[in-house]
Amino acid sequence: MARFTSPLAEELAPTLLERFLRYVRVDTQSTRDRTQSPSTPGQLDLSRMLVEELREIGLDDAELDENGYVMATLPATVDGDAPAVGLIAHVDTSPDESGAGVEPIVHRAYDGSVLTLPRNGAVLDPAVLRELAGKEGHDIVTASGDTLLGADDKAGVAEIITAVAHLAAHPELPRPTLRVAFTPDEEIGHGATLFDVERFGAACAYTLDGSKLGELQDETFTGSEAIITIRGVETHPGFATGKMVNATRLAGEVLAALPADLTPEATADREGFIHVYEVGGTVGKAVIRAIVRDFDDELREQHIALLRRTAEAVVGADPRARLDIEVTHQYPNMRTYIERFPDVVEVAEEAIRGEGIEPVRTPIRGGTDGSRLSQMGLPTPNIFTGGHEYHSVREWASVQEMAAAAATVVRLAEVWAKRR
Ligand SMILES: [Zn+2]
Repeated sequence: MARFTSPLAEELAPTLLERFLRYVRVDTQSTRDRTQSPSTPGQLDLSRMLVEELREIGLDDAELDENGYVMATLPATVDGDAPAVGLIAHVDTSPDESGAGVEPIVHRAYDGSVLTLPRNGAVLDPAVLRELAGKEGHDIVTASGDTLLGADDKAGVAEIITAVAHLAAHPELPRPTLRVAFTPDEEIGHGATLFDVERFGAACAYTLDGSKLGELQDETFTGSEAIITIRGVETHPGFATGKMVNATRLAGEVLAALPADLTPEATADREGFIHVYEVGGTVGKAVIRAIVRDFDDELREQHIALLRRTAEAVVGADPRARLDIEVTHQYPNMRTYIERFPDVVEVAEEAIRGEGIEPVRTPIRGGTDGSRLSQMGLPTPNIFTGGHEYHSVREWASVQEMAAAAATVVRLAEVWAKRR
């Protein structure tokens, strides 16, 4: 039997699933070659659908702006001046796996066995996918084996619309003013870029873009990028004796001198890393591109200093070689901004507990839209969606967990309304 976290979640599940299955069929894959916002027209197809649905539900001011952002308001049912609360999800899917022609499959009352998808021999094995183990009885949604599912983040989109539809149909339930936003291009790091925080007008917001049941995230990596350029001396190899300085060989020495235990594959939890993700070179010039991550600004600075010292020691050993290091800051740890507003996380914890779930406070080993939004003055932690194995053809979602997320949003409104 399917297990729901509450009667409310069970009530929301059928319409939630119907919406989710419609949204995942729209190809909204974003592209890293962004020349406009959104980066791909498919995102607008879904965004236009969402505007229409929001209006049908009763959010009359729903509109799509020129940059592909959907915004809408559900007015408060309590008097006074409770602050407006934002709900945010992204419409695009990852460029890393196809999002065209998604054919979702609902595996009702999952029996715990290996799920075999009809295309490309794709399988979901609970022995490998740890989150899938223990989901017996859940209704599991997958794609068909040759595309991602798009639960990241159409689960979040469907949960927000289902929650606001329920609230709009139940004016007797207490709620503050809710502001809804659906953003483009999150997967390529631009979800917050053209987000008009002032026009949104919320005091705080929540992204529904997490994964496992109960997740509540208010902490991300703080991230920088380092580009190391080494210049050597090019000569004909036949006349190179005592003259050639090979920039690519120097780049290899720099890489070999970096600590092997400070890499993404050798670290976990709260440990940071230096991740070299691209190297290219000739005799005359070599370029090393790396990202540097930590939860602590000071430690991140120490990793950058280590990278700098290592490159300087190697390249500096030959006075004819030249070195240039360019470091750019990418995103902050959102906790720095959210911890000034303790209510924002407390209310989410209360809402999740209200749904009978123990909050899971995991730091994100990456960035989210919430990192930049929080820095832009809109404190925005991230809440679970019930989707798993993102950015892969094995992506799946649990209907019961998605329903729990939608019910959590309904409770979130109630907790805020009572706090005013
Ligand atoms: Zn996402």
